[in-house]
Amino acid sequence: MYSKKCFCEGVSFEIPKKPLLHFMCHCKDCDLLWNGAYMGYVFPTEEVTLTGTKKTFKFDGGSGMKFEVDFCSSCGTKIASRPELVDGLTYIPAGFLKEEIEFTPHVEIFASNKYSWTGTPESLHESFDHNGTVERISAVIEAMNAED
Ligand SMILES: [Zn+2]
Ligand SMILES: [Zn+2]
Repeated sequence: MYSKKCFCEGVSFEIPKKPLLHFMCHCKDCDLLWNGAYMGYVFPTEEVTLTGTKKTFKFDGGSGMKFEVDFCSSCGTKIASRPELVDGLTYIPAGFLKEEIEFTPHVEIFASNKYSWTGTPESLHESFDHNGTVERISAVIEAMNAED
C-alpha cells in the first residue's frame, strides 16, 4: 500500500501499489474541477481508505452520470472521485504518485474536448470521443491485467 496525504496533511489515505488503469478524462466538468484534463489512477473502491476531515461533493456530470469527489475541508485538495457509471471504482489523481509511478495513460474519454497539445500518448489503448461504456472500459482493464 501507498500512504499519502493532502496538501495540509489533514486527510490521509491508503491505496494499493498497483492501479487497475491509468486514466484521462478531457470533459468540461474536469476542465472546471481539475483545471484541465483529469489524469488519474483507477483502484477498486474497497481497497482505498481515507481518514481525516474530508467533505464529499456530488454532482450530475455532463454525460448524465452522477459523480462524487472527496476533498480536504481545510486545504481543498481533491483526492478520491467515484463515477456512478462504473460502480466500485475510485480514481486517485496521478500527481499524488508522481515519484512512485510514471503516468502513462491507457484510456482517455471525452477526447473530442481535449487540449490539442496533449496529443496522443503511445501508451494509449483506447480513446473515446465521449464517455467510454462500462463494458469497454472493463475490457481494457481486463486486457491490461492479462498482460502482467
Ligand atoms: Zn488538506
Ligand atoms: Zn471528466
